[in-house]
Amino acid sequence: MIHTELYIDGKWQAPLANGTRTILSPADESAIAEAAEGTREDARRAIAAARQAFDHGPWRNSTIRERARLLNRIADLIDRDAETLARLESLNTGKTLTESRTDMGDIAATFRYFAGLVASESGAVNEAPHHVISRTLREPVGVCGLITPWNYPLLQAAWKIAPALGAGNTVVIKPSNLTPLTTWHFTRLIAELDLPPGVFNLVTGGAEVGAELAEHHDVDLVSFTGGAYAGESIMKAATGNFKRIALELGGKNPNIVFADADLDTAVDYALNAAYFHAGQVCSAGSRLMIEDGIYDTFVERLAQRLPRIVIGNGMHAETQMGPVQSAQQHQKILGLVELGISEGARLVHGGKRPPGEVFAKGYWLEPTLLADVTADMKIAKEEIFGPVITAERFRSEEEALRLANDTPYGLAAAVWTRDLDKANRMSRALRFGTVWVNDYHPYFPEAPWGGYKASGIGRELARIGLDEYTELKHSYINLAPKPMGWFGV
Ligand code: NAD
Repeated sequence: MIHTELYIDGKWQAPLANGTRTILSPADESAIAEAAEGTREDARRAIAAARQAFDHGPWRNSTIRERARLLNRIADLIDRDAETLARLESLNTGKTLTESRTDMGDIAATFRYFAGLVASESGAVNEAPHHVISRTLREPVGVCGLITPWNYPLLQAAWKIAPALGAGNTVVIKPSNLTPLTTWHFTRLIAELDLPPGVFNLVTGGAEVGAELAEHHDVDLVSFTGGAYAGESIMKAATGNFKRIALELGGKNPNIVFADADLDTAVDYALNAAYFHAGQVCSAGSRLMIEDGIYDTFVERLAQRLPRIVIGNGMHAETQMGPVQSAQQHQKILGLVELGISEGARLVHGGKRPPGEVFAKGYWLEPTLLADVTADMKIAKEEIFGPVITAERFRSEEEALRLANDTPYGLAAAVWTRDLDKANRMSRALRFGTVWVNDYHPYFPEAPWGGYKASGIGRELARIGLDEYTELKHSYINLAPKPMGWFGV
């Protein structure tokens, strides 16, 4: 059994109230860890340590070389412990080992990418009168509160930690209390390094810890990935001291298939778009939109594939889809499927726990396909966040565009067509942070990630993902000051 602690001011310690939370395996509901459950008081201690380290420690004035070196060393340690981390991630989230191993590779790549960016940072010297030096400088923002969700615990953390530390900030990170294990192990790697105390702090715990980070006036920036409900409350809380906010929220992502697409490929990718990590992906292509002429064939082809998807424990090599992460999520998904059927959708496959003794415990669901879904149904609008495809029909490019954009969300969309003109028109007109054409899911540290509209504020990754953790300063130095006799002479 794993026991975790908080990491505050360079020291491992128990929460002040000694709280713990039993972490359950989503595959069989067995206890896998006792995790420290911090409270607001622990968050305040961590914020104080991060504030002290930022205001009085050496980190903020470290050189870009030192910070780039740190990020590269973290990447090396991730590589060293990649298998341990991948196993912990699969154990805790239920995702397959293949998926977790991919995450760990991506995490190391993220740290290396930001190391490269940080090392190439330079301010600018601005054109100015000859007796003036005018410079544009980038400085760290200060204390960053980082709040992460349960679906990609360490990947989402890496997208925040790498730029935050790389820019010279100090951080307090709070992972979801459902999935703290990889962030805890990551903190053990940090503890191997010679970071000054207080630069990196871990407080595991529930929403109250996140709320404290959002409210506290000594936190200068809060970066949150999670659902819209918590995002809204964080946004409001952040107004207290006008702290910077970055929000990566949910999505309802249309995967639009035109009749001229390569159907074999589009069917294959539609399955991956929706069932990868059992659909618990903010950018999951769960809203499948199919052109009228191929609708029935497409649904039929999907239906043939669904019974062949290998559901099982994520730790087993043959597994293609693991369980969903929590009992609450399991219930929510089943409820939405039921709602869809009551709204008039046709259940083609799934919608229940798979049969068999092995699936009696744990949060298992069959891959689910609801057909004949129309845009007015709730299931076509709400993020389901589980292995569920809702299949809608459209009759023209204009209609596809109108329906796809008619959502409060704007995270990701995909278009399948062989017509490059159409692909270009659609990718320009879709109001989403990422638009894939003839593909689904790829992202790169070099490209920005984030949402339009209710899918968030700000962007992660890419240069902008580093810039979000910096303040811009105009530094003006008058080299030849002399009296001007402006007032009262
Ligand atoms: P959640 O909003 O319930 O929780 C996210 C984190 O916020 C957790 O650490 C939680 O403890 C904390 N939290 C909850 N309420 C809070 C509050 N009032 N104040 C401060 N912190 C609070 O989300 P979740 O269920 O863990 O994750 C699933 C959601 O995350 C989905 O909506 C998904 O789309 C979204 N997500 C978005 C992205 C993206 O890149 N846009 C990536 C992954 C997940």
